[in-house]
Amino acid sequence: MIVANRKSLEEILTMLKPYRKVLLLGCNECVTVCATGGEREVGVLASEIRLARAKEGEEIEVREQTLERQCDHEYIDQVRPYVGDYEVILSMACGAGIQYVAEKYRTKMVLPAVNTTFLGVTLEQGVWSERCQGCGECILHLTGGICPVARCAKSLLNGPCGGSSNGKCEVDKEVDCGWQLIVDRLKELNQLDRYEEIIPVKDWRNSRDGGPRKRVREDLRL
Ligand code: SF4
Ligand code: SF4
Repeated sequence: MIVANRKSLEEILTMLKPYRKVLLLGCNECVTVCATGGEREVGVLASEIRLARAKEGEEIEVREQTLERQCDHEYIDQVRPYVGDYEVILSMACGAGIQYVAEKYRTKMVLPAVNTTFLGVTLEQGVWSERCQGCGECILHLTGGICPVARCAKSLLNGPCGGSSNGKCEVDKEVDCGWQLIVDRLKELNQLDRYEEIIPVKDWRNSRDGGPRKRVREDLRL
């Protein structure tokens, strides 16, 4: 899932300063799972905004709405009948959702209420961890199912570096060295011989380095 963190109330209030009528949009997908931008968080943020403005003696109208997804135009279209009644949209979706809403309502300012952070997993209640950077050319079959791009601080394809110590990364002693994890996993799989193979240079044009990416499935197009 895409993991995001809510921005501080101070930052959100600063962005909202010029506005009196706000459409606050949540999303029912990833940001709901990571407890950042779903219906519950929309309710909490709306209350915080109203209270903060009331303390300042300033009026504000906040309409709360949570869409199934903000990365799909059919759901974004649901607010079209009343989006014109609001000066600004404050979105609690990931960066993709926020931008798609802005693309659909081009004359409306759309503000981000969250910081989109990474593609990750739920380790336990309230704890999420990064697993993938969407590099466009997956090599998990070479690394025992552990991603060196996302889990090594230097994204080394052949590691570890000289800073790996006691299984921890030199960048942060609290963080496991990604390459130590790979070696341990290959051992568990009885495939340590794979570690002897040099992983070839990746074609980073399939990653962000090649510019914004697009995927087209002709068989699915109408
Ligand atoms: S190799 Fe690329 S696609 Fe595969 S998990 Fe790592 S970043 Fe994601
Ligand atoms: S210590 Fe390990 S995880 Fe950290 S940068 Fe070096 S190889 Fe990567």
